Amino acid sequence: MSVHDTLAKDAAARGGAANLGPRPVYFDYQATTPADPRVVEALLPYFSEKFGNPHSVNHAFGWEAEEAVETARGQIAQLIGAEPREIVFTSGATEANNLAIKGAARFHREAKPHVITAVSEHKCVLESCHRLEDEGIKVTVLPVDDGGLVDLVALEAALEEPTALVSIMAVNNEIGVIQPLAEIGALCRAKGAYFHSDAAQAVGKIPLDVEAMKIDLLSISGHKIYGPKGIGALYVRRRPRVRLEPLFDGGGQERGLRSGTLPPMLCVGLGSACALAREEMADEAERLGELNAQLRRGLARRLQGVNLNGDADRRIPGCLNLAFEGIDSEDLVRAMPELAVSTGSACTSATVEPSYVLRALGLDTIRARSSLRIGIGRFTTAAEIERAIEVIAARVTQLREGPADKT
Ligand SMILES: *Cc1c(COP(=O)(O)O)cnc(C)c1O
Repeated sequence: MSVHDTLAKDAAARGGAANLGPRPVYFDYQATTPADPRVVEALLPYFSEKFGNPHSVNHAFGWEAEEAVETARGQIAQLIGAEPREIVFTSGATEANNLAIKGAARFHREAKPHVITAVSEHKCVLESCHRLEDEGIKVTVLPVDDGGLVDLVALEAALEEPTALVSIMAVNNEIGVIQPLAEIGALCRAKGAYFHSDAAQAVGKIPLDVEAMKIDLLSISGHKIYGPKGIGALYVRRRPRVRLEPLFDGGGQERGLRSGTLPPMLCVGLGSACALAREEMADEAERLGELNAQLRRGLARRLQGVNLNGDADRRIPGCLNLAFEGIDSEDLVRAMPELAVSTGSACTSATVEPSYVLRALGLDTIRARSSLRIGIGRFTTAAEIERAIEVIAARVTQLREGPADKT
């Protein structure tokens, strides 16, 4: 039984989903992932029996919770080649990105009032940079090429100015392309700028090593890697030491960088999601590669005029962004209630504007508007891929033939 079936059955048993009909098949793994059942099992005791405050130092309730949090911190660190002390828990990647970007830029604003990012970054990175601009810090937004990869020559030129931080994501959430992290890291290190990477879509999907890639700050999100929502982490390098101004004031938890009581249940969830990813990443990538190829082959057999958005080679297998010639993808999504897919990122798809990420690749509005993101992941099956091929091919063909049969 698939995760969806289980969830649907649960909901039906509670009388909740009675009039929602059958649930669509989930193809939106970049928006969020279901928590792995093994993650849920690991975190549940920390809601009730093991409810202690991990910052209570006087009794066993606190020690038990603290030990669990520290085990989780170690599991996260291990996945990215860091030390446990370099992991700061946050509420998610949005907060981690805000802390890294604003924290570094504000700390170094006198000597290095400049940050560099790229046009295809997540909104929370771009908006953090905008905020800094309001504070008088210069922001350089690098272009990307037609595959979505950042222009290293432009980066090198921008680094001529004293720069506090360069923020370039590891894997793009709309098109799945992988940025040249080691090359960017080397350029930043040579110029004395911190390298921050939003790795929400990369952690647990591709091997990451903060030493080899010379990454100084790295953002992680629990719910993109089969962990819980509401938890994430920021890796903060200790040698050479990265200096940040915290976003909030309080009890000085997390080395003074992130005050507030830690949620052990969520920390344990993120830790066990990282441990599972470390174990299973290689096999999972291979399996998703096969599903990806199956989907592309199946669509190519049934349809003309399907084009891949983003670099064809430097990409993760779990994210396919496809343009369907002659189609408005909003119409297509509405015509396929059986599939949970997205026309863009979860944050921007509510607006009718075509995706700024696709526009940044140089795609015209028509092609951007004809594009669909199909996310596959841990619980996607070959049978679900076959179903997606059938439904997409049939509805695209219908829409291309026009509204003749509509009454
Ligand atoms: C989902 C996502 C975020 C936001 O993460 P939250 O944990 O939901 O705050 C940031 N960046 C990228 C690339 C993402 O995919």
